[in-house]
Amino acid sequence: MIKKVTHASLPNIKEKNLVFLSPHPDDIALTFGGLVLANKGFKKHLIHYSVFFGTSNWTDNELNIKTDHRIEYVTVTRFAENRLALNRMFGGWQNYHFTFQPFWDSLLRDYAGPPTAGGGPGGDFSTFRPIEKKTFQDIVALVKPIVAQKDTAIFILLAIGSHIDHFILREAVITAAYELGDQAHAQIYLGEDQPYTGSLANTKVTVATIKQLTKRLGLQPLTYPIKIQEKVDLFQEIYFSQYSPDYIVGLKNRAKQLNGGERIYLWPKENYKKTPSDPSCKQSYCKLAT
Ligand SMILES: [Zn+2]
Repeated sequence: MIKKVTHASLPNIKEKNLVFLSPHPDDIALTFGGLVLANKGFKKHLIHYSVFFGTSNWTDNELNIKTDHRIEYVTVTRFAENRLALNRMFGGWQNYHFTFQPFWDSLLRDYAGPPTAGGGPGGDFSTFRPIEKKTFQDIVALVKPIVAQKDTAIFILLAIGSHIDHFILREAVITAAYELGDQAHAQIYLGEDQPYTGSLANTKVTVATIKQLTKRLGLQPLTYPIKIQEKVDLFQEIYFSQYSPDYIVGLKNRAKQLNGGERIYLWPKENYKKTPSDPSCKQSYCKLAT
């Protein structure tokens, strides 16, 4: 008998509480959509979702206008798109708790940085102004109790492409885990930002970022089969304000590179308290173990 070639199986996520921390209203769908759909919405778990930079004036027409009308319209539209996507992923509103955090996205903060593959402005600690520093510190305080929680898995993004908002959230969670040390009980997973990770123009940066973070945090990659078309449909059919064809190219491309898969990275808990600072950190507020 010929043995069938099988994919690696889905990651074994045994914690009861699953906490998805999203920079923007589309990031969890783009990054973890395949995982959630493959697990049929994680019905046996308690799902918590938070979006941090949900207040925005950005849509795919890229008009950077800051009228009340545009900001309210865009923010509530993205809010609706966000919940519609979560409904599809988790099987309805009754299956998750939703938190809208108060932070402004990079455009509303008048943040300028080199453009990333997703179009947003890039950056790291070296480009922080007082408002990014304050936002970072506020988020460290907000996420600390979550990182301290037992029987909890937290899902964040690697910040591949270094969109400044993605970077702030990633480093805030890393800092919270480092500062808690032995009191950090939650298992943290990091996912691949899309479309950044799948963008061919971005391949060099992607490979370098994954390599650098893998070394810094001691990450263990977990790859599993997904139905990429389901994830593409989720984005294409729901995110009217944020959809553009290049996102789909990136999504499909990464799945192809992973042989029909999606990949997340487990950060072993014993490494939290040994975490070195991000290389861009030159000040005491972002200093970690080394
Ligand atoms: Zn984002």
